[in-house]
Amino acid sequence: MVVDVTKESMLESAIRNFDQTAEQCGLSDQVIERLRTPREKIELTINPLLSDGKTRSINAYIVHHNRALGPAKGGIRMTSWVDLSEVTALAMEMTWKTALIGVPFGGGKSGIRIDAPRLSPQDKEVIVRQFARTAIHHLGPERYVPAPDMGTDEADMGHIRDTISSCSGHSITRGCYVTGKPVLLGGIPGRREATGRGVTLTTVKAARQLGIDIHNARVAVQGFGNVGSVACSLLAQEGARIVAVSDCHGGCLNTQGLDIKRLAAHVEQGGRVPDFEGGEPVSGADLITLDCDILVPAAIANQITAENADRIQARIVAEGANGPTTPEADAILDDRGVCVVPDILCNAGGVFVSYLEYVQETQRDQMTLESVNQRLKDRIETCYDTVYEESQSFGVSMRSASLRLAISRVAKAMQNRGLLP
Ligand code: NAD
Repeated sequence: MVVDVTKESMLESAIRNFDQTAEQCGLSDQVIERLRTPREKIELTINPLLSDGKTRSINAYIVHHNRALGPAKGGIRMTSWVDLSEVTALAMEMTWKTALIGVPFGGGKSGIRIDAPRLSPQDKEVIVRQFARTAIHHLGPERYVPAPDMGTDEADMGHIRDTISSCSGHSITRGCYVTGKPVLLGGIPGRREATGRGVTLTTVKAARQLGIDIHNARVAVQGFGNVGSVACSLLAQEGARIVAVSDCHGGCLNTQGLDIKRLAAHVEQGGRVPDFEGGEPVSGADLITLDCDILVPAAIANQITAENADRIQARIVAEGANGPTTPEADAILDDRGVCVVPDILCNAGGVFVSYLEYVQETQRDQMTLESVNQRLKDRIETCYDTVYEESQSFGVSMRSASLRLAISRVAKAMQNRGLLP
């Protein structure tokens, strides 16, 4: 099951969420105008020579949405459908995410429009290196610092780091150009797991608040890539029962709980989730409305919509993915009392640990896995509590509370810089 991604609506949703919050916060028209539109949109064409002896013409995009709090930060998405509109929406969300989790970064994102899973590792490396060379003037520790996102991983970040240092004729870069690199190249332990770890920490907090015992809580997870697979393993370690998982080919269900280690090994060897022998097939659409306590969308945008929101049985929706819930669906879930842990809080663990990597590289320091995980836990749990208090004080959802806090901080930073009256 592959659900179509409506890119326009992703940007529309991001703007609609922003407009609603900006109005509640009483921001002036000037501030709203400045924050509604990105600061820079860059469109590139790269023409790599691939292993079949032919060149390809591939579109790539970089958007810096806002840099009031620091350099733009946000991952590189490599999918067959990514476009400027989607990258713009994701860059805007990054502005709010970095502000909310309290790191000195702005919001950015980039996209390379090609189907990553279909590429050989060699061809992918050629494409990533060509992207880095072509985009070099738009990257940098004081400008835009990319990281992995859908379709890209640690190895790709290592190739970007190498391309940039080779271009300058040095073995290292001056400052941090990219995060999510292999540890031996200046990466930080725990970055690969950080997003899924943050999803787990916020989910456990929400479960506690709702009086759901995480031990044996039934969890359904959409997406079994970086975020989904780590969230599954860590939630299973907490004692939760992962009853269903899906990938872009379909899902797998076992009401007694899937063996996540075996499923991960099956996928690692190139297997598809619906073919896993430890469960029975379930469609991706049915997974969303499955009888469970916690639903973790950890794949693509616009999966929870006005069509399925009133059939969702989970009491918690923990948004591992960016933008999985449309504003219409959000209102329905809010009315029904479903606790939505919003993306800018739920999946902010990745960018927080990217910040630690940035600091480590800037200071030529080395952090241990224990200290990274402890700092992540402290920061994301404190952030969760702050958002919860804001939601209680103003009687709004966790999403509205997160956006209120984040947007007000960015507006304040712009005022402090003297960019606004
Ligand atoms: P990934 O490329 O590692 O994995 C994506 C997974 O989603 C794969 O299992 C793929 O098969 C699955 N998928 C794709 N389309 C699907 C569909 N229609 N139904 C079900 N599954 C589908 O990507 P990732 O890094 O895990 O990112 C997943 C989401 O989390 C994205 O929305 C991304 O923006 C967000 N996110 C990622 C990070 C990070 O650090 N990687 C940080 C914050 C947010």
